[in-house]
Amino acid sequence: MNKQKILKPTASNVHRAAKIIKRGGVVAFPTETVYGLGADAFNEKAVCRIFEVKKRPSFDPLIVHVASMREAVLLWSSVPDAAKVLMQKFWPGPLSIVLPKSSRVPDVVTSGLETVAVRMPAHPVALELIRKAGCPIAAPSANLFGYTSPTAALSVAEDLGDKIDAVLDGGPSTVGLESTVVKIEGGKIYLLRPGGVSVEAIEKALRLKVKRSVGKTKLESPGQMESHYAPQAPLVLMGEKSDAFIKKLQRLQNAWRKKGGQWPKIACISYSGKKAKGLFCAELVLSPKRDLYQAASRLFQGIRKLDRMRPVLMIASPFPMQNIGLAINDRLQKASAGKRGWKQFMLSFPKALIGNQT
Ligand code: AMP
Ligand code: MG
Repeated sequence: MNKQKILKPTASNVHRAAKIIKRGGVVAFPTETVYGLGADAFNEKAVCRIFEVKKRPSFDPLIVHVASMREAVLLWSSVPDAAKVLMQKFWPGPLSIVLPKSSRVPDVVTSGLETVAVRMPAHPVALELIRKAGCPIAAPSANLFGYTSPTAALSVAEDLGDKIDAVLDGGPSTVGLESTVVKIEGGKIYLLRPGGVSVEAIEKALRLKVKRSVGKTKLESPGQMESHYAPQAPLVLMGEKSDAFIKKLQRLQNAWRKKGGQWPKIACISYSGKKAKGLFCAELVLSPKRDLYQAASRLFQGIRKLDRMRPVLMIASPFPMQNIGLAINDRLQKASAGKRGWKQFMLSFPKALIGNQT
């Protein structure tokens, strides 16, 4: 990417980026979750460009970013009390709220759905950009569709390069995972995607149980599609029995070494402790002090870093299913190539060596 397009977030550069958006361009900008690829939410042509640049399927709706609650309310046709509580408690912050849309929101933003997801980001540069542009900004993550989301300006440049008009560099995203998406319908609240705000915190604020099932259609929240956030290398989740998984790999490695073969490059992502010596080309421990929020903030950058080493396989240990751990596991699950990834890896060994160890 042309270096001149990576802009330091000075007042004049934010102004310049806002002007690009006003003219119908697309600009990547920092938020506390991940970097977004933004366009004027009211400009259909500009929004279409987001889909083109990202190669995002047109059925995957965008989240609209606002700089105030007042602006959000104008995008919805009605605002139940639960939404007001959530906005007051969690905005600005990593929570997107889905409600029936007002007629001001173009269909292209919502992929034809009658609802729209809105959030107010907690990043000063994002808020300044929205205010200066003078319009809500529709923005998905600033990466090619299906790949790991970017949490730094350089990652945006790597993925989207010259296809976008500019990227504002606001430093690394502090949360590091996308927003939680909830839908409020008929007095009930549904979790459409786990993210930066925990389900526990939402339940506490509303004194209401959040329903985890999505309901009717699979594509109600396309962030729930099976393959998403995936690195180039096949990623395999170790599941609860990670010790047994490691032992299996070690047995394979011993057998392979006896034959004089060169053990393939395998990278490992774990929560707090190293798994095994000599087994991996790289082992990334996301939070030695077992802080799930720190682990979340390092996850996507970590995956990208390991991916650059071109391992034949990436394996990840499971994270505790509490607070933001739910979102970390969700992203790993979707990034995972599952059985296919493991099969592909096993096929790289001679049959005589591995027997029936599939
Ligand atoms: P991204 O912008 O890549 O983080 O993805 C945004 C995600 O938010 C989508 O993939 C959906 O899962 C969800 N989303 C956005 N708008 C809606 C909506 N109107 N109804 C349900 N889910 C939505
Ligand atoms: Mg995305």
